[in-house]
Amino acid sequence: MSRARLILLNAALGPLDYRVPHGMAVEPGSIVVAPLGPRQLVGVVWEPERLPAEEVGDNRLRPLVHAYDLPPLGAPLRRLIEWTADYYLSPLGAVLRMALPSSGALDGARSITEYRATGHVPERLTPQRAQALERIGERLGLIRELAIVGGVSDGVIRGLVKTGAIEAVEIALDDPFPLPDPDHDPPALEPAQAQTAAELRAAVEAGDFAPYLLDGVTGSGKTEVYFEAIAQAIRSGRQALVLLPEIALTEPFLKRFAARFGTEPVPWHSGLRQAQRRRAWRAIASGEARVVVGARSALFLPYPRLGLIVVDEAHEASFKQEEGVQYHARDVAVMRAKLEQVPVVLASATPAIESRHMAEIGIYKELRLPDRYGGARMPDMAALDMLQDPPPRGRWLAPRLVQALEENLEAGEQSLLFLNRRGYAPLTLCRHCGYRFQCPNCTAWMVEHRFTHRLACHHCGHVMPAPRACPECKEEDSLVACGPGVERIADEVHALLPEARTIIVTSDTIWSPAKAAEFVARMENGEIDIVIGTQLVTKGYHFPNLTLVGVVDADLGLAGGDLRAAERSFQQIRQVSGRAGRGERHGRVLVQTHDPGARVIQALVGGDAEGFYAAETDARREAAMPPFGRLAAIIISSEDQAEANATARMIGRAAPRVDNMAVFGPAPAPLAMLRGRHRFRLLVHAARAVPVQDVIREWLGALSWRNSVRVSVDVDPYSFL
Ligand code: ADP
Ligand code: ZN
Repeated sequence: MSRARLILLNAALGPLDYRVPHGMAVEPGSIVVAPLGPRQLVGVVWEPERLPAEEVGDNRLRPLVHAYDLPPLGAPLRRLIEWTADYYLSPLGAVLRMALPSSGALDGARSITEYRATGHVPERLTPQRAQALERIGERLGLIRELAIVGGVSDGVIRGLVKTGAIEAVEIALDDPFPLPDPDHDPPALEPAQAQTAAELRAAVEAGDFAPYLLDGVTGSGKTEVYFEAIAQAIRSGRQALVLLPEIALTEPFLKRFAARFGTEPVPWHSGLRQAQRRRAWRAIASGEARVVVGARSALFLPYPRLGLIVVDEAHEASFKQEEGVQYHARDVAVMRAKLEQVPVVLASATPAIESRHMAEIGIYKELRLPDRYGGARMPDMAALDMLQDPPPRGRWLAPRLVQALEENLEAGEQSLLFLNRRGYAPLTLCRHCGYRFQCPNCTAWMVEHRFTHRLACHHCGHVMPAPRACPECKEEDSLVACGPGVERIADEVHALLPEARTIIVTSDTIWSPAKAAEFVARMENGEIDIVIGTQLVTKGYHFPNLTLVGVVDADLGLAGGDLRAAERSFQQIRQVSGRAGRGERHGRVLVQTHDPGARVIQALVGGDAEGFYAAETDARREAAMPPFGRLAAIIISSEDQAEANATARMIGRAAPRVDNMAVFGPAPAPLAMLRGRHRFRLLVHAARAVPVQDVIREWLGALSWRNSVRVSVDVDPYSFL
């Protein structure tokens, strides 16, 4: 009799054995449906010798229900799933889910029914119907998706279908994606670019594991260079995967790719509609999707013929997933490349200290592009000392920055003000009694958003209308905004330069690829003079007429004081500076700071990246911090503070004694409350040689706690909240 051991798409279940019925053929990697109690679950057949499970007698096995007619997940992907689960202390089922994100994609239906507005206005136009139709516009989607876009119930959309205002359309799921043409419109590379491109092309052709750090200043042509490696992958009949740190960057990337290769690549991110997702997944799994660009979740998809992985803006912290399986996509990308035996390119103008270290010790090969393309110079940078030359009271832009904005406006050139704070003001308080608006669910202030007249928590999404009176002392009109957010800076710009056409660019305003495309088009058409934006504008964009960047508060990122605070500030300001002067016109950058002597500011203004990296690296080495030592955080949370505290202490007391390893805490986490849960943290610090995961697995495996307590382990943490 034939049996199969499965990993099911359920994080709570271990491996389970099933009987393979007569006439069904499965092998490791086969995607199947199995019964579980009264339910049926999707699972993947695994090599039994790799997954210890309880032995169950043949006579007690239940038969598999179905095997999909799909290529099995390849052995390299299966090894990657095992590695990820092991390294990040996560259930196999949770990691597997990232490879099979849509069970609808599996079932082989050739089409899916979507809906769209017809333009016909129903006779009875209720406010809800009107709102739904207006918000849906020309969009396509499932009933559920349109209901979400329209902000109404499914019933309202179904009603609109009945009236003929919305109609059904069949979307074919197996329409092929056009093949990118590697020779469509290649650029003439400069010598340094050509040499780098040749090396990458050769690596793709060789088809071996080869990790590269592509370190080039902003505007040096890193993208053009790795495009050549992608072209080679296409010529060799392989697939290429490009990971980007933000969905917002996908849209400009698609356009740019299409200009080079004649057609867009296949996008993969959380913003796809169900139909797009299914079509993309099937094309990826069949090997037909040749170039895929996506967010970190694209990393676990079943590419049967992977030939190259590129991680663009590889230093970005958003490659670290903070929920569910807490993996770092940059690190997992290198592991996948190793298992698939293909090259991987980490591209960045400001590589992470970890990546630079790997290059220094010879594990990654470093490729450098030290100059901007076409002779464009790096922008001039200057620090503005906010103590010497402060703005007037209640304003945030120093006189010299305002003057520079005026000059740019007169010259018809574009400017960018960078402040990494959404909303109008980070804190609202009552001037009468001192009451501060705090989120009821989190240890965080409520942030005023003046456009929407609301206060919002940026951690849990809790919102409340901005009140007129203080909830504590009932005094009217006593509430004052403290500190600036981008909306407040925009107000200041309007007051000072009323004729300037501005745009605010944050995740509140650019919440979809379409919005990002609209922003890019308006910039390119010269419809905007001054952009006021958060970290969303620091990377990727290329606006030749943008010649001035003002950093509103360079000290902001340093406040938290976590391990990477200085590094991150340096990267962020370098990145945003890289937006200035990318065309023929020269760029300049003005950095507002209260501490012009700080090492980060000095390094930025002096252009001494090497000195900064060397000093930061030494500091990390001395403290045995990553990459010279290892960290893991254990977060214990519960709605009940005493319970969370007691469990954290119990876990702390059980900490094993291991050489070269120390356990700190428990202490309340910096975000002591998040989404209504009280949080305590233990921090494990160990030498590189300590097998931290094994230690933690054994330690926590011997303990138990109540179901109301959640214990999560963050290996190589990035957020210290
Ligand atoms: P990076 O990714 O390093 O910031 P890009 O690849 O975006 O740099 O290049 C910056 C700009 O210069 C882009 O508009 C790009 O098209 C252009 N560019 C770079 N190299 C070339 C080249 N060899 N020929 C034509 N344009 C180039
Ligand atoms: Zn909150």
